Amino acid sequence: QAKGASKQTAVLFTPDMLTAQNQRRQMEQDLRHAVANGDLQLFYQPLVDMKTRKIVAFEALVRWLHPTFGMLPPDVFIPLAEEINVIDQLGNWVIRTACAQAAQWPCGIAVAVNVSPLQFRETSLLPTIINALSSSGLAPRRLELELTESTLLNQSDDLMRTLSSIRDLGVKLAMDDFGTGYSSLSYLERFRFDKIKIDKKFIQSMSASVETSAIVSAIINLSQTIGARTTAEGIETEEQFDQISERGCNQGQGYLFSRPVAATEIGALIDDYGCLQQLPIAGKID
Ligand code: C2E
Ligand code: MG
Ligand code: MG
Ligand code: MG
Repeated sequence: QAKGASKQTAVLFTPDMLTAQNQRRQMEQDLRHAVANGDLQLFYQPLVDMKTRKIVAFEALVRWLHPTFGMLPPDVFIPLAEEINVIDQLGNWVIRTACAQAAQWPCGIAVAVNVSPLQFRETSLLPTIINALSSSGLAPRRLELELTESTLLNQSDDLMRTLSSIRDLGVKLAMDDFGTGYSSLSYLERFRFDKIKIDKKFIQSMSASVETSAIVSAIINLSQTIGARTTAEGIETEEQFDQISERGCNQGQGYLFSRPVAATEIGALIDDYGCLQQLPIAGKID
């Protein structure tokens, strides 16, 4: 055996790595426990109308209150939840909790909920939505599901049926992080989205790049053409707000207005910004 090879074998099994493996196993166990016991919390970030800066919706963003690591952001544990198959249980909790909390909000403010592509593989998604709506009394048009482009990579009949059933309930569908996935635009022709959310990476580099700025304009024009609304994510400055606003984007979201806040702080935010009364016009919510 060559010297190098034995060295490499030794490197594969350092105590450090065993510790890392144990830590990962511990994390998995902690997450299963947290999901089963609801040691999760929803934070909410406002979406404002670009013309009036009044609040039209809140996006629910899940947090995990870990016993030793404190509040963990979703990027840390959603991928893990997907790997260990607890994403459905977690996602269903998010839907039920978001609907129950949103039913208390004034003005018919909507709630946006992120849904993992994996949740569409299970049969529990649709019944969970139906139950969450009926037990909370939330009007279906006040619930908005945010999907990512990867959800539409495999356009199976099952997926299309589920999306149609959700749409038939009156629930809104939004395409999240638009322009960052690997999906082709052809899904827009197959399935109509109510809203397109422009990813924050475009918003944050548009002032420095003519190309990005053109892409943002193109996305807004495309959305208008297919009858969808647009939300710009990640607006942090007045300059970004102005650039987005003059291109006719409908809604904005970002630290300029507010960071995601705990449910208890929603009242104060609504007092600050006001809310835009959502009235049905000719059967369609504006
Ligand atoms: P997302 O759906 O694109 O949510 C927007 C993310 O951008 C949030 O991060 C939000 O805090 C952050 N953000 C908002 N405004 C600004 C800004 O002005 N500047 C910057 N730099 N960031 C801003 P968060 O809460 O860490 O969530 C990250 C991602 O985790 C979400 O991205 C979403 O994909 C996923 N996620 C969150 N909650 C859930 C959930 O309940 N289920 C699933 N499946 N995914 C979730
Ligand atoms: Mg989202
Ligand atoms: Mg997003
Ligand atoms: Mg994003």
